[in-house]
Amino acid sequence: MYRGEAAKVLGEARVGDRIRVLKGGRSYEGILMPRSELGDDRHVVIKLDNGYNIGVEVSNARVERLAPAEEPYSRAFPEPEFSPEKPEITILGTGGTIASKIDYKTGAVHPSFTAAEIINAVPELADVARVKTKLLFNILSENMTPEHWKKIASEVAKELNGDAYGVVVAHGTDTMSFTASALAFMLKNLTKPVIFVGSQRSSDRPSSDAALNLIAAAKVACSELAEVVVVMHAQSSDTTCAIHRATKVRKMHSSRRDAFKSINALPLGEVGEDVRLFGSYRRRSEGEVYADTRLEERVALFKVYPGVSEELLEYCVDRYKGIVLEGTGLGHVPENLLPAIERAREEGVAVVMTTTTLYGRVDMKVYSTGRRLLNLGVIPGEDMLPEVAYVKLMHVLGITQNYEEVRGLMLRSLAGEITERSLADAFY
Ligand code: GLU
Repeated sequence: MYRGEAAKVLGEARVGDRIRVLKGGRSYEGILMPRSELGDDRHVVIKLDNGYNIGVEVSNARVERLAPAEEPYSRAFPEPEFSPEKPEITILGTGGTIASKIDYKTGAVHPSFTAAEIINAVPELADVARVKTKLLFNILSENMTPEHWKKIASEVAKELNGDAYGVVVAHGTDTMSFTASALAFMLKNLTKPVIFVGSQRSSDRPSSDAALNLIAAAKVACSELAEVVVVMHAQSSDTTCAIHRATKVRKMHSSRRDAFKSINALPLGEVGEDVRLFGSYRRRSEGEVYADTRLEERVALFKVYPGVSEELLEYCVDRYKGIVLEGTGLGHVPENLLPAIERAREEGVAVVMTTTTLYGRVDMKVYSTGRRLLNLGVIPGEDMLPEVAYVKLMHVLGITQNYEEVRGLMLRSLAGEITERSLADAFY
């Protein structure tokens, strides 16, 4: 982690070690912290005993290594005691900010995922449920693949068919809505809640949203709602969390705590002290949950924009079994893309239309360019979000590749992804 001049001065000292830096007649003592990849190679960073980090320029400096790094403190947590009347929930860890924190003793970022650690960090969870945890993997959500979705779906089904009253999946926020909607399609006969939760600010920062989100997620996991949902901050302040249907939610801001919004739908509910559910939703019931993890991975999500090259689409027609177009406005494409779309139909590649506007429904009957696309067999994606249509098409093509069957399934709402009527108040 330390390079060049800094590495030379540090010698044997490693991140987490206690060191003393002597420079210009002064001495600085503390724990050697990691250096960001983008940092220069002329400063070492130490955490002083008063908690502040300082950077010391290394020219003419000397470093003494006082003591090796201590063991990460996380191993020391006692087993939490849960009250037997509380329902049992499973929290599955998959990675992202919510599942990790900086260990200030060693400076390392490490997954924090035993029940003991979680309860130590968020003690209020024990008032909600008996928590069991399992770390499935620890990856940033930009690195999630359909293989990970399958593994998460199977593990969730296993937990729900075991003792879990509900399951919480801790996940990075960037691609959380893809994984959540994949599970919404894959989990058949869902009889219990499955809650995706993440955090926009890590738990070691005072502004972290991790605790409120986790507590709210645990409450929803004990509720009557038998759907796959995302539970995240409803406002930028620590007030309430919103419950979003997995197939209707999207991350709409790169950093705000209330980044998640339901699109073309209202949230399913809100969590403050208690869980409040509104509108119509699937209720908890009895019965075995089944994960249908068949997915056709040769599906592309293709954005349409002025100047888009037909070669790109021709390439997709050659390589893929399904293409979701993010068309302009009501669902249009420039004329240069039409030959590739026609060839897709001839070669049995399913093409689904969604819109770059995200809000609203595609309507390809209004303009002649749209009608032409309908005549070419393009399937209207109604008011589905483009990425939800992408995940759904993978799922549907995993079940059948017969055009009429694919069309029928794409036009039908399988997991709440299509709303029958567009609500005026769902645009806010
Ligand atoms: N970009 C990472 C992810 O989505 C970390 C940020 C987060 O957890 O939201 O996994």
